[in-house]
Amino acid sequence: MIDGRTQLVGLIGWPVEHSLSPAMHNAAFAALKMNWRYLPLPVPSQRVDAALTGLAALGFRGANVTIPHKRAVFSALSSLSPQARALGAVNTLVIEGDKDPTIRGENTDASGFTAALATAGFTSAGCRALIVGAGGGARAVAYALIEGKAREVVILNRHVNKVQEIVDWFSVQLRNHARLRAETLSLSTLVAAAADADLLVNATPVGMWPEVELSIWPSEVPLPPHLTVFDLVYNPYETRLLQQAQRAGACVVSGLEMLVEQGARAFSLWANRQAPIYVMRQACRQHLVDKVRSKG
Ligand code: NAP
Repeated sequence: MIDGRTQLVGLIGWPVEHSLSPAMHNAAFAALKMNWRYLPLPVPSQRVDAALTGLAALGFRGANVTIPHKRAVFSALSSLSPQARALGAVNTLVIEGDKDPTIRGENTDASGFTAALATAGFTSAGCRALIVGAGGGARAVAYALIEGKAREVVILNRHVNKVQEIVDWFSVQLRNHARLRAETLSLSTLVAAAADADLLVNATPVGMWPEVELSIWPSEVPLPPHLTVFDLVYNPYETRLLQQAQRAGACVVSGLEMLVEQGARAFSLWANRQAPIYVMRQACRQHLVDKVRSKG
């Protein structure tokens, strides 16, 4: 029941209607019998500062931040966590204090990625990683791997200047940036780099619903079975790339695990208690199943 003691959190972005986060967090609150609600809050770019002031004024305990506001929120924050500063992006806001509330910017994407990898039994320390894509997801993954003491991180992207931006950014932000290398994405660079890698991460939207037949890995080339393959795409749960990896005998990790782990960290920052990860994962998977059913 919603009443005068209901605590509010939400998601600011534009658009927000396809997000799994409301289903995931509301399931967690219900499972723990917490009088909290998570709301999707569509906010256009020109109203980001006003929205943050409004969240604090309305007594919200926090929010998630998604595209395109992950950097735009910076100017309205009271403080930033080291991870958010190093990544240049915020995905979680923590609002504290009743009379004069402060808003802290956090980023749980990198630690969510690390936790999902660990759950699959993969250790970053000493590994050679290959990331395909150079957007916000790739940046969080590269940061997590460098901080996790990976031996080498190679990033491939169609437009190599975008990877170079990541390399330049981390050369200022991180001590271990020398382990980071940028190359242009092509069939030959992908296959050659994968042969030398322990971990392959798809950080592009390739294979995302509705284009579920697509994969970054060419169908005519066998995928190296020694790889662990992590697809950041979480809809569908099992992408074409993960199917190829499974057929080759490689280990696989779904992007849904990262989504749930980053959500669990946000939950703990707001509620100061451990998140019910199992419930959150189930809620996300059910939401995806329901979406597919409703479409056909
Ligand atoms: P983004 O900032 O828009 O970056 C997308 C990247 O993918 C760009 O580097 C782009 O290359 C590349 N790309 C796009 N289409 C491509 C294609 N057809 N072939 C090769 N490369 C292509 O996106 P993002 O925020 O990083 O997200 C990427 C994916 O990861 C999305 O599916 C997103 O949902 C997912 N993600 C999941 C999580 C999670 O928690 N599981 C977290 C973050 C992101 P160019 O620069 O050459 O255009």
